[in-house]
Formats: sequence, structure tokens, C-alpha cells
Amino acid sequence: MELWYTEKHSDSVNFSLKVKEHLFSGQSEFQKLDVLDTYEYGKLMTLDGLVMVTEKDEFVYHDMIVHTPMAVNPNIKNVLVIGGGDGGTVRELMRYETIEHVDMVEIDKLVCDAAKEYFPTISCELENPRVTLLYEDGVKFVKESPDNKYDLIIIDSTDPIGPGEGLFSTEFYTNCHRILAEDGILVNQNESVFYEDTQEAALKANSKLKKIFPIVHVYQANIPTYPSGYWLFGFASKKYDPIKDLQADKWNNFGLKTKYYNTDLHIGAFALPSFVKEFFENGTIQFL
Ligand code: SAM
Repeated sequence: MELWYTEKHSDSVNFSLKVKEHLFSGQSEFQKLDVLDTYEYGKLMTLDGLVMVTEKDEFVYHDMIVHTPMAVNPNIKNVLVIGGGDGGTVRELMRYETIEHVDMVEIDKLVCDAAKEYFPTISCELENPRVTLLYEDGVKFVKESPDNKYDLIIIDSTDPIGPGEGLFSTEFYTNCHRILAEDGILVNQNESVFYEDTQEAALKANSKLKKIFPIVHVYQANIPTYPSGYWLFGFASKKYDPIKDLQADKWNNFGLKTKYYNTDLHIGAFALPSFVKEFFENGTIQFL
């Protein structure tokens, strides 16, 4: 009998993958976690039935959420990662010997345990000595953190539902602004614009950030297993502009081999299609 995994991307759009084996299923106090082995995308992890990470396309997401800010300020030393339980964001950060320390605040230990067990190529740096892994609510952590501590905050979160809801709040972003250094940068996963659910979340997050940070932009990437395959990230900064202050030579001198990110693509990622630009300028979007 054929086994298929299906995720509802909207009321009238389903996304299905043929499954070889259902490897693991677990329930934590926060969410349900499943690990499936699929024919096309290798192993994938879902939280509450939604795709979080797959072996085949995770490189896109993790390249874009880490190397984009690092190419704008290559001198980043102290980083805070909120969420990121699969470990892919920390893996990319640890490729920079110049990064002195990463605090990673993940609310659900089950995600890290499952990542270590089933995704060794993604979770491989979770126990790096430069990483402090804390199982805590990110909203509480930033509230209790001191001012001006971090050069970079990466919000590698789930969608704004359940435990992830608070990570899209004004209170959370305001605390992030406070605990960032004077030239600090914040990057978040900023949902997408093709389906209503993610549209609303994308706009809300962007407008909240614009009320708190002087410099706020959106950039794009193609992630096939995320709703519509067109995904957005937010870039909020106290000082640096992601294009004017791009330090391409310095970043290329790191000599990192990356499968998705490069400094030419960096510029294109911030060059949004007209309907997306208009959407973040005036909140309206017209498809059909
Ligand atoms: N790339 C994925 C995406 O865009 O959907 C996200 C990957 S990562 C697995 C998301 C992580 O955020 C999960 O491990 C989840 O447990 C964590 N998370 C959700 N709410 C949180 C909170 N309030 N504090 C810290 N971590 C949280």
C-alpha cells in the first residue's frame, strides 16, 4: 500500500510526498513531531503536521538565514539563535571561526533529540563548545537578557501559531532590539505571500519590525517544501543596509563553499517582484 504525507498549504491547495517509511512519532508538551523518509526529499521532520526541514532542500533556508547577515557584517562575534532545533542554523554559523559564541534557545528538547538521531548532517554542531544550547521559551529569554549583548539575532522559528506565536510579537521584537549591539542585525523567517495565512503573518511581522528598527527589508528564496515554494526572510538592522553595506570581498575571503548563497544572489534576493514590493508598501495584493 502506498504511503503519502500531505500538508495543507491553503484551503484549496495540498502538498503531498510519497513516503518510504514513517520513522518516528513523538509528542512533547509543545507539539507533535514526526520523522518521515520520503522518496524525493529524503528524511523530513514535521511539527504539528507542518514541514520544518527536509534533507534535500534545507541548505536553501540555512544558507539564506545565516550567510546573508554575515556578508553584511563579517565581524559578527556574538549570536543568539531563537528556535532552530534541527541545528541547521548553528551548523552554518560554526563554519565561521570568527564567531566566538552562539546562544541557541530552543523551547522543545524533543526537536533537538530527534535531529541528533535522524538528521546527523544537519544537527552536527549542536554540541560544539562555542554553542550554549538552552531549552527555554525565546520570548522569556530575550525579556531577561541584558542590553547590547548580541551582534546578530536569528529567529529560526515555526509559524506564528502555538509556541511560535510570541516570536512574532511587538514585545519580543522590542526586547530583541534592546539586547542587540548598536550595529546589531536581526533576521527572521518571514513566511510568504502567495496564500492568505502566510500573507497576513508576513505583513504583520514586517510592519511590527518597521516600527522598532530604522532599517527593515525583506528578502526571498526558493524553498520547494514550504507553502508555495516562495519563502521570505526579514532583515532588520540598527545601522547596516543589506545592499549598501554588503561586504562581498570580505565574505568571499572566508572561502566558504555554499550550495545556495553567493554574494551576487544576495543582491537579487533583496530585489523583490513588484507585487511583493507593493504588498509590503501598502498591504494590498491582487492575484486573480
Ligand atoms: N525552518 C523552519 C520553518 O521555517 O518552519 C523552522 C525550523 S526550527 C525546527 C523551528 C523551531 O522553533 C522548532 O524547533 C520549535 O520548537 C522552535 N520554537 C517554537 N516556538 C519557540 C519559542 N517560543 N521559543 C524557542 N523556540 C521555539
